[in-house]
Amino acid sequence: AAAIPAAVYMLQDQEAHAAEMERTFIAIKPDGVQRGLISEIVSRFERKGYKLVAIKLIVPSKEFAQKHYHDLKERPFFDGLCDFLSSGPVLAMVWEGEGVIKYGRKLIGATDPQKSEPGTIRGDLAVVVGRNIIHGSDGPETAEDEIALWFEPKELVSYTNNAEKWIYG
Ligand code: ADP
Repeated sequence: AAAIPAAVYMLQDQEAHAAEMERTFIAIKPDGVQRGLISEIVSRFERKGYKLVAIKLIVPSKEFAQKHYHDLKERPFFDGLCDFLSSGPVLAMVWEGEGVIKYGRKLIGATDPQKSEPGTIRGDLAVVVGRNIIHGSDGPETAEDEIALWFEPKELVSYTNNAEKWIYG
């Protein structure tokens, strides 16, 4: 084993991890933006070790909100939800990392903040389901669709974060 330079092991490790990298769509809703929670929320993803690959502040139209939440169009709260999402600036982001889709949902907490564990974003920072401050894709297909809905491919930035070797080994 001594004959194989350490750099080779590192390259193999990086390649093994690269295969598991995924991206998710995360948005701070108008309530989170207005309440001044952008830095608090961004820092939780950042400190965990995920990589920010796209970010922008936009006010979505109601039609756009309806597209984003199309899965919920039969629900009684759909119209109010779309009015709410389009009522002010939303911070749209794409975060990348190993397991970020599923673990991002863990960081966010349950849909209803009354049921979110303390320590989660909604558990610590929100009180009611209609004002739960953050959105995160709920699976790989949704993540892909939502990233494509909110961002142009050229807005996604590919780069090497030099901390990655300390995060992934
Ligand atoms: P999540 O955002 O956790 O993925 P859902 O996809 O079920 O949850 O719902 C989307 C959003 O719709 C929620 O984040 C919340 O803002 C809103 N919502 C869900 N259930 C209700 C409800 N019963 N009343 C009002 N708004 C709701």
